[in-house]
Amino acid sequence: MGKADGFLLYSRLENKERSPEERILDFKEIRLGSKEENRREQAARCMNCGVPMCQSGMRLAGMVTGCPLHNLIPEWNDHIYRKNDAHALGRLIKTNPFPEFTGRVCPALCEKACINGLDDNPVTIRDNELYLAEYGFDHHLITAQIPKKRSDKKIAVIGSGPAGMSAAQRLNYRGHAVTVFEREDEIGGLLMYGIPNMKLDKEVIRRRRRLMEKSGIQFLTNTNVGKDVSLKEIYEQFDAVILACGAKQARVPEIENMEGTDGVIMAVDFLTAATKCLPDLPKVNAQGKNVIILGGGDTGNDCVGTCIRQGCCSVIQIEMMPMPPKERAENNPWPQWPKVLKTDYGQEEAVHVFGKDPRVFSHTITRLIKEDNKVVEAETAEVHFIEGRLVPSEEREVISCDLLIIAAGFTGCEKELVSSNGIELSARNTVKTDQGKFATSKEGIFTAGDMHRGQSLVVWAIAEGLQCAKEVDEWLMGYTNLL
Ligand SMILES: Cc1cc2nc3c(=O)[nH]c(=O)nc-3n(C[C@H](O)[C@H](O)[C@H](O)COP(=O)(O)OP(=O)(O)OC[C@H]3O[C@@H](n4cnc5c(N)ncnc54)[C@H](O)[C@@H]3O)c2cc1C
Ligand code: SF4
Repeated sequence: MGKADGFLLYSRLENKERSPEERILDFKEIRLGSKEENRREQAARCMNCGVPMCQSGMRLAGMVTGCPLHNLIPEWNDHIYRKNDAHALGRLIKTNPFPEFTGRVCPALCEKACINGLDDNPVTIRDNELYLAEYGFDHHLITAQIPKKRSDKKIAVIGSGPAGMSAAQRLNYRGHAVTVFEREDEIGGLLMYGIPNMKLDKEVIRRRRRLMEKSGIQFLTNTNVGKDVSLKEIYEQFDAVILACGAKQARVPEIENMEGTDGVIMAVDFLTAATKCLPDLPKVNAQGKNVIILGGGDTGNDCVGTCIRQGCCSVIQIEMMPMPPKERAENNPWPQWPKVLKTDYGQEEAVHVFGKDPRVFSHTITRLIKEDNKVVEAETAEVHFIEGRLVPSEEREVISCDLLIIAAGFTGCEKELVSSNGIELSARNTVKTDQGKFATSKEGIFTAGDMHRGQSLVVWAIAEGLQCAKEVDEWLMGYTNLL
């Protein structure tokens, strides 16, 4: 513990963000970098608890709290405080191969479990992590991980999201020859085409790709497995296969008149097109439109921020669930994940531009009204919990809508590739494995990330990729020393 009374002397200080006024004019990153002296003070707030809940990554009351990667947080906070940044970085990358991603987009499960959060504000763990990651790149300490010795094993990874990337990096460093197949034109999965540029600059992913290629990993982009090459061919040519194709199958709500109507788009398709076309506008865009986003969650928030940058006339986010409390409820104590109202960057920007929070809670869309097959209005209704079910009330309100974006969650992975190759699916429409394992029902085929656990978080995808790599290595070699 660097400074015994650091938590008493210094208040929480997060990295600054560009003001809503300035940032809505472009798609550049919102958060500004760290100042060295701030990070040292913030690291000094860490109390190096005897039982550091921040690195526990454990399930409490149905939700995980603490870091799923078990990052050695108190250790590297101590090193930051003592100006041993290189050593701190060494401890960080021992457990987290991509801190430049999590330092930008992780919802910081660690901070929710920080003991400083019990009666004050938690340590800025995520900002400290980003500081170390960028320190590592700036000082050429994060380099290509070239293995000293190669094995004769060949591994195919299908999907280049954070799960596929972390599995590929670990197995390559172990000495196996890794080829990653990706159907998009760029690697990164939802990091690239999903999470908007203002949260994660796409150059950050390309920077990592260059290092991974230098270390010997081969990326085959624009290669759709199941279409351009069959899984059977890959299975025959490689010693092991990892399926890390994500869980992008959108939940499509039942709305009268929606099917086949112009002006309705799924959130990930909308966000993908927005990023792909930058700096231009994609064909389906929000410019000059009254937009409704169905879904009040994080994906919906990313759509709000994107629509505002594209120049929408208005934006409303419709959410079925009631508004959560502003503070932790009594039955949701620390260190459980706090189920509280979160106002994210997109909602903040909507308040700045339109003068109000875009979210309308306890509501749904029941019907679309169209002209020439194009949506022009949406009929909405308040919903109530009746016998444990959300039921729309009889009263309806009609609101203008030129663009409807569906951000109502996900229903698992795309089935085709899996079922056509005789691999079993779970009841949740994810690839089935034994609890805590990554081997599928087909020998030599493994799975990781959202495709395995359902739509989740980047930090979980990275953690699953690492654990899957360990299982694959053991299966191939008969033993493993991987962490
Ligand atoms: C809009 C949005 C915003 C999000 N924001 C955050 C956030 O801020 N923080 C956070 O922690 N999490 C966020 N998430 C969740 C997070 O992005 C995912 O949990 C994570 O990316 C999952 O990683 P993955 O590697 O399992 O899958 P993915 O990232 O989905 O990657 C799967 C990859 O497989 C490829 N693929 C699929 N099928 C094939 C095939 N047949 N052949 C070849 N390639 C194939 C896909 O093209 C894709 O590149 C967000 C999700 C969404 C939708
Ligand atoms: S990866 Fe996420 S949960 Fe883990 S230390 Fe970093 S910010 Fe916290």
